[in-house]
Amino acid sequence: MTATPSDVDAQIDAAFERYAKHVNPAFAALIKFMGFDTVEDRAEGALVYDVRGRGYIDCLGGPGVFTIGHRHPKVIAALKDQLDRMPLSSRLLLNRWQAEAAEKIAEVTPGELQYTFFCNSGAEAVEGALKLVRLHTRKPGVVATIGAFHGKTFGALSASGGAVHKTPFEPLLPGFRHVPFGDAAAIEEAIDDTVGAVILEPIQSEAGIIAPPEGYLRQVREICDEAGVLLILDEVQTGLARTGTMFACDAEGVAPDIITLGKALGGGAMPIGAFTSTAEIWEAFRDNPLIHSSTFGGNPLACRAATAALEVIAEEQLCDKARERGAQLLAGLQKVAAQYPDLIVEARGRGLLLGVEFADSDVGGIAIAGMGARQVLSAYTLNAPKVVRFEPPAVITGEQIDTVISAFAHGVRVAAEVARAAS
Ligand code: PLP
Repeated sequence: MTATPSDVDAQIDAAFERYAKHVNPAFAALIKFMGFDTVEDRAEGALVYDVRGRGYIDCLGGPGVFTIGHRHPKVIAALKDQLDRMPLSSRLLLNRWQAEAAEKIAEVTPGELQYTFFCNSGAEAVEGALKLVRLHTRKPGVVATIGAFHGKTFGALSASGGAVHKTPFEPLLPGFRHVPFGDAAAIEEAIDDTVGAVILEPIQSEAGIIAPPEGYLRQVREICDEAGVLLILDEVQTGLARTGTMFACDAEGVAPDIITLGKALGGGAMPIGAFTSTAEIWEAFRDNPLIHSSTFGGNPLACRAATAALEVIAEEQLCDKARERGAQLLAGLQKVAAQYPDLIVEARGRGLLLGVEFADSDVGGIAIAGMGARQVLSAYTLNAPKVVRFEPPAVITGEQIDTVISAFAHGVRVAAEVARAAS
């Protein structure tokens, strides 16, 4: 029996009510205020369908989770097979699916990165990376960057640079110092004998899609080498084809000492995080192989999804696709932006990690709602509400990109009308 329109409305109302009563009332109210009076139901490729059967192009994409698209058949087949075999590990016998995923990561990561610890989220990956630094160097100091986003657990939050999410939780971990992103000399100045690592996103995502000046990563690499300090690159969002290369650091030919991964690593189907480092640094785990552990980290289901995702990225040449579709989308966004110089500061980014900076965050919010009305999903970046992000799956078609651009033009037109009426 198919649901009638009134059944569907009742389902939507019930979901909003349960959110308001049992999940997050303020979030439910915000979503409704933005015009999304519906709930998600299923997804495929670049599309998310609501319970009314309407398909939305997913330009929020997780953010950064759905690089290979929603429900990729190869990932779903691997997961179904694994469900029938063994979803979770005994945690005593060796887990061959974890070993296979770790080997694949070693194959695609730059430099000498070889060993991987699996966890369940990006923030956990950052926590683990920071702990590995402490174990290897015995030094508590970490240089991080202003505006950075590394997650919301205490350690990751301490490394992050946005005040909004940090201030209510102070005091955070000691030893962190923050310098302007893109300024290699500031990193050099901040390093002293207490510092064990520098942590950076190669392109800051939640700070508003900010790429550093060319050569920055290479300079930071040299500074770290000279000072004997480890370089952690947080590629949780930029990694795995998002920016048009396998890792954003590949664009500068720079290899970190530790890389953190998450989001797209789960093939758009499983939660997973990971940190990967060199054999030399991994020696820190030799004395006690369980000094750092996680009950669900490296579970067979998540690892099957990761291995399948890495295969799909290679087989479908998603780095190339992210570059091509990204160039098409950026050109379209820039064309629209040029028509509204008073409202829009700039459209920018690399590959399919794109952002449009508005002069005012409320105007950007109206544009997001306007795009929603044209069935395109987007949102602002966490540490920069003036920036609207575009991070669609790399399997998005050229035609869908054109739809996104015209929905954006519509959203900005609506925002301009509202701004004009308010002035
Ligand atoms: N690091 C970066 C660069 C991120 O963008 C994020 C999330 O947006 C995280 C870490 C935290 O990941 P998670 O939300 O999976 O904990």
